[in-house]
Amino acid sequence: MQLVDNMARLGTETAFEVLARAAELERQGKSVINLGIGQPDFKTPEHIVAAAVKALQDGAHGYTPAPGVMELREAVAADIAARRGVEVSPERIVCMPGGKPTMFFAILMFGQPGVEILYPDPGFPIYRSMIEFTGATPVPIRLREENGFAFDAEEVLGQLTPKTRLVIVNSPGNPTGGVTPKAEMDKLAAGLEPHPSIALLSDEIYSRMLYDGARHETFLAYPELADRLIMLDGWSKTYAMTGWRLGYAVWPESLAPLATKLAVNCHSCINAPTQYAGIAALTGPQDAVDDMMKVFDERRRAITPLLNAMPGVSCITPQGAFYAFANVSGTGQDAKALQTRLLEEAGVATVAGTSFGVTSPNHIRFSYANSLDNIEEAMRRMTALLAG
Ligand code: PLP
Repeated sequence: MQLVDNMARLGTETAFEVLARAAELERQGKSVINLGIGQPDFKTPEHIVAAAVKALQDGAHGYTPAPGVMELREAVAADIAARRGVEVSPERIVCMPGGKPTMFFAILMFGQPGVEILYPDPGFPIYRSMIEFTGATPVPIRLREENGFAFDAEEVLGQLTPKTRLVIVNSPGNPTGGVTPKAEMDKLAAGLEPHPSIALLSDEIYSRMLYDGARHETFLAYPELADRLIMLDGWSKTYAMTGWRLGYAVWPESLAPLATKLAVNCHSCINAPTQYAGIAALTGPQDAVDDMMKVFDERRRAITPLLNAMPGVSCITPQGAFYAFANVSGTGQDAKALQTRLLEEAGVATVAGTSFGVTSPNHIRFSYANSLDNIEEAMRRMTALLAG
């Protein structure tokens, strides 16, 4: 068979490989604590599940409009108005089976050989994978530990060239838990003004996962970007719904029909009962989200000092999401090798910084989507491994 060249350039998300290996070790009877995967360890709140069951019983069995039923898009618009303080027409909202298809389609729309796409590094691995798949040149936006893993707007603006078509940003960030200060967003928005042909994809999937009373800052709040901003968010993390596959984006008016056309070509529509679950999630009680964030905060406050107490390990306090991105350079061990040893010898699944780009070979991501007891046990195992 003769596959297209692009297939050789498609990357992947190593977290899924770690998950598979962890499951295999567990099948062999080994105890594995999973701090590798980026999904809340909570159940989807009951009223959301009930809405999907009801939708199925009521006959939501058929195709729906490709961008989602209007009631869902209206619920998203109302949520954006309430939480982000921005009025958005439901016509600009395209719901997708998860957050990923939005980035997939956005990068497909802008990527081709000869163009450049900027993306965060360390960052979600699918950005680079998809950029390379399209043949575009991936240009990493370096996120530095000393900046709390936020981008430096001046540096980003300095990376723009006549070939730049799309800039991707993500805050709160995976794998770092970093949150970009509003001042940097202001600078980036202002600096993009003289470049009206450059689009911005703002991945805000962790928008509800902030700590210390912080407020989410959104790129939707910059009306001057409205005709070229794609703002991605979804249900996966906020409502512990990763397996349901539901996400959305606000697209520029001109691009929403194209995103819809890609959806028609790809998946037709989102699974119908899932859409009713999504409506219940947005319009129903939010205490489960608040409760989940309280638990994540306790774990964040536990894991960060435990990591910092290990010789040769340092970790800045994450400001969002549920990841601690620890610098292990002082251990004298290669982070990727340490990831393997942690899993194989200590039964602790993590993901090394090399899975998130080229700029963090000395870091390991710890997802604290696991119980406090398990986190403490994992830290004990890691401490023992490093001492041994
Ligand atoms: N964006 C970021 C930054 C993520 O970390 C993830 C999932 O880990 C996604 C998007 C994709 O989310 P979904 O599972 O809804 O496709």
